[in-house]
Amino acid sequence: MNIGIIGGGWSGLAAAVELTRSGHQVTVYEAGKLLGGRARCITADAPLLDNGQHLLVGAYKETLRLMKIVDPDSARNGFLRLPLTLDYPEGVFIRAPRLPAPFHLAAALLFARGLSLEDKMAAIRFMRALKNINFNPDTSVTVAQALAEQPSAIRRYLWEPICVAALNTPAEKASFSVFARVLKDALTGRAGNSDFLLPTRDLSALFPEPAADWLVENGSTVRTRTRVVSIQRSGEKWRLVLEDGSAIHDKVIIATSPAHAIPLLEQLFDCQAIARQLSTLSYQPIVTVYAKFLAPLRFKTPLIGWVDPVPLFIFDLNACRSDIRQEKITTIAAVASAEGEHMEWDDARWMDEINTRMQQVFGQLPPGRIIKRVTEKRATFTCSPDTYRPPSATPRSGIFLAGDYVDGPYPSTLEGAVRSGVQCAQTLLSAS
Ligand SMILES: Cc1cc2nc3c(=O)[nH]c(=O)nc-3n(C[C@H](O)[C@H](O)[C@H](O)COP(=O)(O)OP(=O)(O)OC[C@H]3O[C@@H](n4cnc5c(N)ncnc54)[C@H](O)[C@@H]3O)c2cc1C
Repeated sequence: MNIGIIGGGWSGLAAAVELTRSGHQVTVYEAGKLLGGRARCITADAPLLDNGQHLLVGAYKETLRLMKIVDPDSARNGFLRLPLTLDYPEGVFIRAPRLPAPFHLAAALLFARGLSLEDKMAAIRFMRALKNINFNPDTSVTVAQALAEQPSAIRRYLWEPICVAALNTPAEKASFSVFARVLKDALTGRAGNSDFLLPTRDLSALFPEPAADWLVENGSTVRTRTRVVSIQRSGEKWRLVLEDGSAIHDKVIIATSPAHAIPLLEQLFDCQAIARQLSTLSYQPIVTVYAKFLAPLRFKTPLIGWVDPVPLFIFDLNACRSDIRQEKITTIAAVASAEGEHMEWDDARWMDEINTRMQQVFGQLPPGRIIKRVTEKRATFTCSPDTYRPPSATPRSGIFLAGDYVDGPYPSTLEGAVRSGVQCAQTLLSAS
């Protein structure tokens, strides 16, 4: 088959790799100059900075599998692997030792600093209760409702930061069943599933660029700066109308963000109901502030966090990134996920907040300077109990959907995007 894929983000590229591996001829159309969508490099010169600092976990199996296919070196050396670590300079420290599962978790909780025995036992009881229901809770419950009985320290330093980091949705709005699924994959099974994977290279170099090279080497086509304007029926096939021309395909995958899928779906009579439902989705922001300090600073762990006034994590890019290792300068990425008062902060306020936190760790320091502040207002969809997520097959035979918002076990993440791409490719193949 000759398949057109609209969108060269991680989901579109994942679908393209799967279909090319099955012997089909694929063309990926990407509107932007660069591939990778929301997870791509956005600077041309050093330091190479991303559209937002990303964190992956060892449980991202499909992402790691596809990375291994297109670039084994990227899968092997593309990450700094850190055992699950939650390091709060205000006094709480949780780290999973290198023990087989589930002992690594039990030990992480029992030896955690800054939490009472009662807190630790409550966390263990919570995990045990989830295990008893096979991590399959009532789908109408929010994370905040499920955590109502947990002690405040465990909520604030353990569950809520994991919820915001994984679902990019505050606990009051977040779906507990999706949260439970993330906990199941990351905290049960192999001990390495809970590892944090910190990219050692920019996100474009991690997967999108090697995936594009692999696709071309294997006979498929990747077209950047090529926006698809509409999809039209052409006999038994589909015509993709581009800004300058058109192309005919047997099947089409729309692998854009939900907001960009809406105008394409609206033009297809049977898909208008999906477009209407997608327009009800709400979104959550992520702010990443890249900053530098003119001092050689050594962090105890490459990722440290604070919970007040908003959950904020600082990544030590000198420790993570192999291309950002200047001896006298320390480059960091400060990340605030989901909605909150930080959306009103300007550069000066951000730098104040970052300076204060860095001084808590390192004492008096020359103030840092912002390199770049990236605010993604629609970083992810709000992952609530009632969030609409369409299946990858649409009512129009020959038109399929891929993307982090498409129905699947994961929230809006790289693994969610990649899984949806793979799942979409399989659905397309079994429908043909
Ligand atoms: C700031 C930020 C931080 C994040 N942090 C994390 C993290 O730490 N861990 C994690 O796992 N996930 C994280 N995510 C989420 C993750 O990046 C996304 O879930 C994932 O990249 C979505 O991929 P996608 O392919 O579904 O969509 P997209 O990345 O949106 O890709 C869609 C592509 O389609 C293209 N396109 C749109 N319309 C058209 C058209 N008409 N014609 C041609 N091309 C078109 C777009 O240009 C884009 O490249 C973060 C996201 C952001 C924004």
